[in-house]
Amino acid sequence: MSATVPFSQFVLKVHSRCDLACDHCYVYEHADTSWSRKARAVSDEVLERTAGRIAEHARTHRLPAVHVVLHGGEPLLAGPDRLRRAAELLRAALPAGCALDLRIHTNGVLLDRRFCELFAEQDIRVGVSLDGDRLANDRHRRFADGRSSHAKVLAALALLREPEFRHLYAGLLCTVDVANDPVAVYEALVAEQPPRIDFLLPHATWDHPPARPEGAGPTPYADWLLAVHRHWTERGRPVPVRIFDSVHRTLRGRSSLTESLGLDPADLVVVETDGTLEQADSLKTAYDGAPATGFDVFAHSLDEVARHPGMLERQSGLAGLAARCRACPVVRSCGGGLYAHRYRTGGGFDQPSVYCGDLLKLITTIRDRVSARAAAPARPRQPLTDRHLDELAHGLGGADAVTALGQAQLELSRRLVTAAGAPGNSAAWQLLTTVDRAAPGALDAVLAHPYTRTWAVRRLARDGRGDQEDQGDQGGLAELAAAAAVRGRTGFELVLPVRAGWLHLPTLGRLRLDGRTEAVLRGDADGLSCAGHTVRWDRPGDHLWQPVRRVALPGWTLALEDTDPRRDSHQWPAADRLSDAELLDWTGALREAWELLGRDLPDYAAGIAAGLGTVTPLAPGPDGRDVSAAARQAYGAVGIARPTTAPVLALLLAHEFQHVKLGAVLDLYDLHDQADDRLYHAPWRPDPRPLEGLLQGTYAHLAVAAYWAGRVRAHDGLRDDAATAARLQLATWRAHTADAIGTLERSGSLTPLGLRFAAGMRAALAPALEVPVGAAAERAAREAAAADPAARQAAAVRR
Ligand code: SF4
Repeated sequence: MSATVPFSQFVLKVHSRCDLACDHCYVYEHADTSWSRKARAVSDEVLERTAGRIAEHARTHRLPAVHVVLHGGEPLLAGPDRLRRAAELLRAALPAGCALDLRIHTNGVLLDRRFCELFAEQDIRVGVSLDGDRLANDRHRRFADGRSSHAKVLAALALLREPEFRHLYAGLLCTVDVANDPVAVYEALVAEQPPRIDFLLPHATWDHPPARPEGAGPTPYADWLLAVHRHWTERGRPVPVRIFDSVHRTLRGRSSLTESLGLDPADLVVVETDGTLEQADSLKTAYDGAPATGFDVFAHSLDEVARHPGMLERQSGLAGLAARCRACPVVRSCGGGLYAHRYRTGGGFDQPSVYCGDLLKLITTIRDRVSARAAAPARPRQPLTDRHLDELAHGLGGADAVTALGQAQLELSRRLVTAAGAPGNSAAWQLLTTVDRAAPGALDAVLAHPYTRTWAVRRLARDGRGDQEDQGDQGGLAELAAAAAVRGRTGFELVLPVRAGWLHLPTLGRLRLDGRTEAVLRGDADGLSCAGHTVRWDRPGDHLWQPVRRVALPGWTLALEDTDPRRDSHQWPAADRLSDAELLDWTGALREAWELLGRDLPDYAAGIAAGLGTVTPLAPGPDGRDVSAAARQAYGAVGIARPTTAPVLALLLAHEFQHVKLGAVLDLYDLHDQADDRLYHAPWRPDPRPLEGLLQGTYAHLAVAAYWAGRVRAHDGLRDDAATAARLQLATWRAHTADAIGTLERSGSLTPLGLRFAAGMRAALAPALEVPVGAAAERAAREAAAADPAARQAAAVRR
């Protein structure tokens, strides 16, 4: 292996025995018998040396992240204390700037709340083996005495789905048995709501070919997987399936997501319980001793292991394949299949996969299905022009581009409300359609309200996350219809819910109505009447009517939203209704912040004026921290706790609106591979982030770097505290942003448009990188980057 292709995936065996006796297991039931000579459980000494070796490798190759899977046998047999020790040692050893993506692959039998709490504490994601429904799973996955393991695994999965553990659930691993019904297996897996499904071909070689049931035809594995693929496609691909996603990616010339397909160099090494270093586990199926390298963590570095001939061969891509594979039309997708599956006594690994016929059929059929879909009528024209996309790729977006984004979001909101309002025969629905005909602009104003979409999405979710009202009745639809009718001066009479003493009209305000759960609201050109109250929604109210208040600034008008019950949609809680004094305070701060944005970030300010229509005051952050947020389902809104200074408010507005813009772009276009579930180092956070999180953060920090570049230029030549602080901030944020752009580019998971955004961000950052800040600021920024990540995050939130 060249030094430029380091290991980034590590399988760490923490226990070498298992509590199940699956008859298809490659560890105990195939050619290699080395498990019987290994230590039962990994020792502290092996864990320490392993952590040290991985850290050394990460430092040498400046790895942004390493992926470690705790494995077995059955890794839970190692017990919580040993698993915690493994996680702590790994995390403590890794250098700053290298994220740890830590997972465990388990059969699930022992997985209980105690383990889940440990995994939550140590941020360990969990993959579970399950072969389908009870019938399918019982074919192989049994205890030694023949008992089924199915019920215990399902109980473990139910635990992983609980809200506090859901984020740990990494997916299901299913070994294919063509005797099982493919659709029944797929549906049984989907019913467990996994974030990803991995179908694995049973390990086999030319010496021990896979079972091919009589009468099943020459390619039963392709036929089985293609039946699942058809069903999965027809159902809208509700869950990523690694083997299908890998075929789709490799057909487009991109990297595979599994070592069993594609030509990507293998970058995985196994650490056994006794510290010996081995090649991929799948080689256990070839012959006794096949995975061995002769190296161990005590005496050898991982670079030495990487130079082992077996490793080098699995790194050699097309050149390392048999002649027939090299001439094969699908070789770039197939890659000769899994290395272990090519083995034949006397011929080694120099032949096609024993699954050759199946792989050829699987790939060519999926290719044909993809082509057929591509030939189908084109999707409606995307709303953004090339110029808009270019502006947005550079982190900006003038009034035109942001208005076009807003129009697309309005369309999306309209479709979501239509779906959420179905079946469409209620009085509220009738009123909505009436307003749509008579005063479409009035309806658009309500549909464009950020929290309208929040309501529709929650109502459509029906999965227990939305509140009872949003799922259970059409009260939200009645509120939208009434608000639109009021705006359109359309007469109506409608029953509206009263929530916690308030009747709500989104975008307009709320009316106090104590002691009721619903009320009849009447509207006409003169105003509203309800339960003996008459109000003019567009006039300052009495103490019962609280209108949404708007702040008009030069070139920018926004709502300070403190009445809508769905405004509590951000990661921090919303503030209560602002008092008059608080309103005055906010108005003054916004005016000052807007002036600063116009002065320091004029290119960003134009987009803000065109697209940011709502600021939702949040409750003060913990310990007085400045907190702010944007919600993906609330286009046009940002949530902010009133900060102490106007410059911080300006910075938070710019930062959060970047998230708003990018979220709207992501609703329209794929910038990255949705199937990439790896975690990446984000320089401004202690925890590794999914690719989209890293992309969002990078895009937002582009505005932060630009802001500080402006401040440093403004303080040119000065030596006061403000100038020093600005230089340090610029040195920090431009380095973080450049670092993250590099990680995005190297991920291999950006689409062509995603790469265009990365290039645009790099170009946009260039001027900030050229602003001189002095050696002291550069040094302080480097030291801060190397400091405790938790402190970094706290500093970031306080910035
Ligand atoms: S389909 Fe067969 S010949 Fe083609 S690359 Fe795969 S294993 Fe080799």
